Amino acid sequence: PLVLGIETSCDETGVGVVRGTTLLADVVASSVDDHARYGGVVPEIASRAHLEAMVPTIERALARAGVRATDLDGIAVTAGPGLAGALLVGVSAAKAYAYALDKPLYGVNHLASHICVDQLEHGRLPEPTMALLVSGGHSSLLLAPDITTDVRPLGATIDDAAGEAFDKVARVLGLGFPGGPAIDRRARDGDPGAIAFPRGLTGPRDAPFDFSFSGLKTAVARWVEAQRRAGVEVPVADVAASFQEAVTDVLTRKAVRACREQGVDHLMIGGGVAANTRLRAMAEERCAAAGITLRVPRPGLCTDNGAMVAALGAEMVARNRPASALDLPADSSLPVTEPLVPAGEPG
Ligand code: ATP
Ligand code: MG
Ligand code: FE
Repeated sequence: PLVLGIETSCDETGVGVVRGTTLLADVVASSVDDHARYGGVVPEIASRAHLEAMVPTIERALARAGVRATDLDGIAVTAGPGLAGALLVGVSAAKAYAYALDKPLYGVNHLASHICVDQLEHGRLPEPTMALLVSGGHSSLLLAPDITTDVRPLGATIDDAAGEAFDKVARVLGLGFPGGPAIDRRARDGDPGAIAFPRGLTGPRDAPFDFSFSGLKTAVARWVEAQRRAGVEVPVADVAASFQEAVTDVLTRKAVRACREQGVDHLMIGGGVAANTRLRAMAEERCAAAGITLRVPRPGLCTDNGAMVAALGAEMVARNRPASALDLPADSSLPVTEPLVPAGEPG
């Protein structure tokens, strides 16, 4: 099926076109530079930027894919979770196109899309799919017997998300926003063993698949503060590398354990933090040692984009899932257990 996907849950206006599991176009217009001086995403600025970029981005994606809107089999859009005003821009645009073109509309879950996008790179996902979802707002281990209908959380963060921790630590180190890519870069010149930062929730009595990054973030802030008070220059690269090592150690350890305990022989890693070089390398090593096949999309497909929405939409069409109603609500707190907002569901 030929599907257009629209993503506006945060600060990326993303539009993708896919045919089945084949990527035809992926156009992303980001307002990230407009937010940088505020140190984080400003919802009103994001919504305004989506509004301006929406139609040109859709037209660019269709042109790049070399398809006509009338040939589409469906239009998919992120229905949630995300920023309410930002989501509304994409959902409204998707409704307008679906109505005008008389095409089925699929309001899909942003988090399931972060997983399904891997089909564009590595073909159909195995069933069940074991996924480590690590992004700006989420850190979860998910087991999905069917990515279009059945996504089950095995564990999740009890405080900060992994990406959030990267962003906050980057701020402490004065590395700017967004923090993940900045820490990734600086860590390359640092020693990951320089400072022993805590590994949250890894004790024998801790929930095996839950995460906690708030204690780690505080430990980094305290350590840096102590250096500054003592008048010692902060070894930014070493702090970045040691922090990154602590995050990736916990993520990969728990993900491998989840695969073992569930008897799953592969691991998918998705979400913006999956773009992290160290996480990718460590996951590769530990999965290989455990006999687990690792699937991670290329970095550009890990961060928010429209192709991931189109990928999940195409899967909905391929599996004959019911289209969403034209009065589809945007749901800023759509739970991960709902891959598709069904027909006629009340807001
Ligand atoms: P969610 O998907 O939970 O709704 P989101 O869409 O805002 O949140 P994503 O776009 O999936 O999040 O990911 C953004 C996050 O990924 C940010 O926190 C960013 O710092 C982080 N990130 C991006 N690239 C890297 C990297 N190379 N290393 C570490 N973190 C990264
Ligand atoms: Mg973003
Ligand atoms: Fe995301």
